[in-house]
Amino acid sequence: MPEGLKERTLILIKPDAIQRGLMGQIMQRFEQKGLKLVGCKMMTLDEAVLREHYAHIADKPFFGGLARFMQSTPVVVMCWEGLEVVDAVRKLTGITKAREAEAGSIRGDFAMSQACNVIHASDSPENAELEVSRFFKEDEIFGYDKSEYTHVYAEDER
Ligand code: ADP
Repeated sequence: MPEGLKERTLILIKPDAIQRGLMGQIMQRFEQKGLKLVGCKMMTLDEAVLREHYAHIADKPFFGGLARFMQSTPVVVMCWEGLEVVDAVRKLTGITKAREAEAGSIRGDFAMSQACNVIHASDSPENAELEVSRFFKEDEIFGYDKSEYTHVYAEDER
């Protein structure tokens, strides 16, 4: 399999989606797109992991509220694989401020808030690699053949 097909991205299903029963529909979007789920678990985010994960906004006034929100329930942590998957998933996710996110995107369809915007998605392949290793141990990521790949990708892509 070409290395490109093994690009990975890290998704968190946030507490608002857990409370609102949107988990299944969110996962379905990624499945329907043709992506491969290679890691999935539930976890509670402690202060240290949140500070690391949100280091780029840790000095913002909304960080305290965001941290309380992100710790209000466990989150679902997923790793999805595919060709140029990081960009593809950012497009599926939509912009941060959900009420302005494009209709058809996950945030555009499921959320109204700037903070409670249902999922996190890695924003670059470099950050995705860091985030996958932040949230998953090596033996929690699985490799397997997905039979639908022969139809999801053209011959010269797989
Ligand atoms: P994204 O999740 O779209 O990559 P950022 O990395 O900028 O966006 O922010 C991380 C998360 O912090 C957002 O998804 C959202 O939950 C929260 N957030 C960002 N900006 C704000 C804001 N102005 N007010 C409240 N929460 C915010």
